[in-house]
Amino acid sequence: GKTSSVELTQDYLSRIKNSNHNAFISIDAEQSLAEAAAADDLRGQQKTSPLLGLPIAQKDIFCIDGTQTTCGSKMLEGFIAPYTATVVDKLKAQGSVNLGKTNMDEFAMGSSNESSYFGAVINPWSPANETLVPGGSSGGSAAAVAAGLAPAATGTDTGGSIRQPASFCNLTGLKPSYGRCSRYGMIAFASSLDQAGPMTHTAEDAALMLTAMAGFDQRDSTSLNVPQEDFSRLLNESLNGLTIGVPKEFFGEGLDSEVATLVEAAIKEYEALGATIKSVSLPNSHLALPSYYVIAPAEASSNLSRFDGVRYGFRASDYTDLVDMYTKTRTEGFGDEVKRRIMIGAYALSSGYYDAYYSKAQKLRRLISNDFDAAFEQCDVLMGPTTPSPAFAINSRADDPVSMYLNDIYTIPANLAGLPAASIQAGFTNNNLPVGLHLISPYLQEAKLLNIAHQYQ
Ligand code: GLN
Repeated sequence: GKTSSVELTQDYLSRIKNSNHNAFISIDAEQSLAEAAAADDLRGQQKTSPLLGLPIAQKDIFCIDGTQTTCGSKMLEGFIAPYTATVVDKLKAQGSVNLGKTNMDEFAMGSSNESSYFGAVINPWSPANETLVPGGSSGGSAAAVAAGLAPAATGTDTGGSIRQPASFCNLTGLKPSYGRCSRYGMIAFASSLDQAGPMTHTAEDAALMLTAMAGFDQRDSTSLNVPQEDFSRLLNESLNGLTIGVPKEFFGEGLDSEVATLVEAAIKEYEALGATIKSVSLPNSHLALPSYYVIAPAEASSNLSRFDGVRYGFRASDYTDLVDMYTKTRTEGFGDEVKRRIMIGAYALSSGYYDAYYSKAQKLRRLISNDFDAAFEQCDVLMGPTTPSPAFAINSRADDPVSMYLNDIYTIPANLAGLPAASIQAGFTNNNLPVGLHLISPYLQEAKLLNIAHQYQ
């Protein structure tokens, strides 16, 4: 097209300025426009990349050199990152423009964006008489793309934080295989589960984003050293002969009946595309949530020990000695959900309890992973609902952690097993709320997963 990146970026910046979704924690218009001008220069020289000049919003969990990076926490308010996350660098290397940093649950802990120190985010699909959450923890990224404040955004997914907000905001959200995208410069929550991924309108856009974001990085010890891939390469392949497995455990108690109907209808549509549908079982699925809520807090309690008021971010102003400084800093700097996780995690890791909780949870994780291996002997992809319900009202679940945790009951198993998974648009409820269809594929089969998503869209 003829629109310059500067014009495009300007347009998005003014939409952001005029919006009331609270989707962004910070923007730096001058910096974004400078990046856009540089991209326009490259366009003038006929340099082409599908992302050249494209503005992209970045979840505020990614460090960007010289930019405030808060992770949604008071603890990091005003923290200026001294280096850039690999994922952001890779998107930049394709000529994309950083539009700003999006709102998120504090340290990515949450499913509603309500734990952000920078305030709740409004779901653009909220009806006139009610304010709904966008999901979380990548709630700002989801709201930004859904409201047309950015054409695409990055997110991170430890237990569902890309897929659940994608389903609440009618987007395509992809969590890649564990190790696909470097975690370098992405503030750690639960290191064995965390993965970065794209949040877009379509699988086609997600494929372009992932192609730029993925790749080996020697600065992340769990980064996969596999060949670079073009994730768009299979998009247009036929689905003739595809076998879809539908785990019966994903349609049990707690699932909203309208969501079930919409998801079943979406899966049925695949028959017209040449697919066969088969009922399968993941018998240990009920163990996913309990094992996740030991493993994720355990890793978080360790990762978050670095926020001690000494090295970066917030420090309490009144204290008597070093221990008092640590205590007051962490008491004042962290919100309730983060403290809850740190306490659960420290307990699960403590001597005498480690074997009973942490090591037990790791064993359950293996069983869950084995279930997937067995299921994929019978099918090419698994499908079900992304979440048990559509988006809910702000303040309706904030005081009930367990009901909040149940949001991720269908998404967490893929994180525990390290598998790629996506949420795509399945349809709308009678109240016009979006519902997501969840797709899980075998390890490293993102290209196939995106093909399956694209053929439906
Ligand atoms: N909602 C889940 C949690 O609070 C998942 C969060 C995430 O994926 N970052 O832990």
